[in-house]
Amino acid sequence: MGILQRAGYAFTSEPEEADVMIVNTCGFINDAKKESIDTIFETATLKDGKLQGVVVTGCLSKRYKDVLFDEIPEADVFLGTENYHHIVEAVETAFRGERRTFFETENINYENEDRVLTTYPHSAYIKIAEGCDNRCAYCAIPFIRGNYRSRTMESIVDEAKILVSRGVKEITLIAQDTTQYGVDIYGKARLPELLKKVAAVKGVAWLRVLYSYPERVTDELLETIYTTPNIVNYLDMPIQHFSDSVLKAMNRKSSYASVTALLKKLREHYPDMTLRTTLLVGFPGESKQDFDRLLKSVKETEFDRLGCFAFSREEGTKAFDMPETVSEKEKEKRREKVMAAQADISLAKNKACIGETIRVIIDEYDDDIFMYIARSEACAPESDGKVYVSSPEPLKIGEFYDVIITNAEYHDLMGEINE
Ligand code: SF4
Repeated sequence: MGILQRAGYAFTSEPEEADVMIVNTCGFINDAKKESIDTIFETATLKDGKLQGVVVTGCLSKRYKDVLFDEIPEADVFLGTENYHHIVEAVETAFRGERRTFFETENINYENEDRVLTTYPHSAYIKIAEGCDNRCAYCAIPFIRGNYRSRTMESIVDEAKILVSRGVKEITLIAQDTTQYGVDIYGKARLPELLKKVAAVKGVAWLRVLYSYPERVTDELLETIYTTPNIVNYLDMPIQHFSDSVLKAMNRKSSYASVTALLKKLREHYPDMTLRTTLLVGFPGESKQDFDRLLKSVKETEFDRLGCFAFSREEGTKAFDMPETVSEKEKEKRREKVMAAQADISLAKNKACIGETIRVIIDEYDDDIFMYIARSEACAPESDGKVYVSSPEPLKIGEFYDVIITNAEYHDLMGEINE
């Protein structure tokens, strides 16, 4: 978007007003692929109106680069994930009604001062690395995004400074595996050092890091998160499963013993750290006993946040050739059981907040319900719940306030300004 803006293009959120539409696709699992393809077709119907061309980019485009151009003539130009430097050429080609692809292997360079934020103006993600060297048996991302490539600390810190100078107060560091940061370019993992450097940028009020691989969550990382005042007390650590045989088949480095030991340490030494995880059910070979162990561990651990996915068989992955042993219906049943257990945990935890005063950042005002929508540091943008705030006085979007919690739901909290 920054490159297009510099070239003089303007953006619209109204599809009917666009001369060219860019569909940024996801190609990770079946549901995402379907949604991406539906969106491309839906977008192309606007060619009956003002729309001149459709550009398709992102993971689906890269993953199926050999077939989509022929199979979807409704779209004009296809780009791979690393070919965004050609976005102006792509848009111009589509505008002329011509068709072509951009899939050459290119270096990724995020040093772009003209970044356009699509998030709230006070909150931004910074991608610290691209690709992944882990080869989880179910995951297509390493084939789509390539091996792990860290950005330099200097470029990440510079980006944080630029974002803060434009009003960003909350920064979320992301990568496919943030805990591997630095191994490729510095010879060792340097996430704690990176966190300290970004936290030291004047104006960063909340710094968060997502997607930590359990086996690489070190004491140094935990201490850095816990003791640096503007790094939020939040750990997102996808565990995927609790059964040794399933973890092994998934090609994960964790075991039941290693994960439970880490969780015990977290709860004992860092009791107020918000803990988020992601689980995958229905992997080939997952027996009823394996699933029962997972469900029991979810109930015992009482994660603060949890997402659970059903296994999706993806071409090119190791798991694609494994015989499916759990039916689609059973996968969904298992997923629902985990989410139901978590909903009860989440409700109980939220209810325990009633009467407490917590600090929130105001994201927006919802004039249908006459309430502000905010988040505490325990809520990552987009993925976690919200705090709905009522206030007799107008509040400033992007500002921090203290709120007394008055009511709780499964995922969200309600509160009033603490005057
Ligand atoms: S760590 Fe994440 S991105 Fe990397 S292979 Fe495993 S699931 Fe995929």
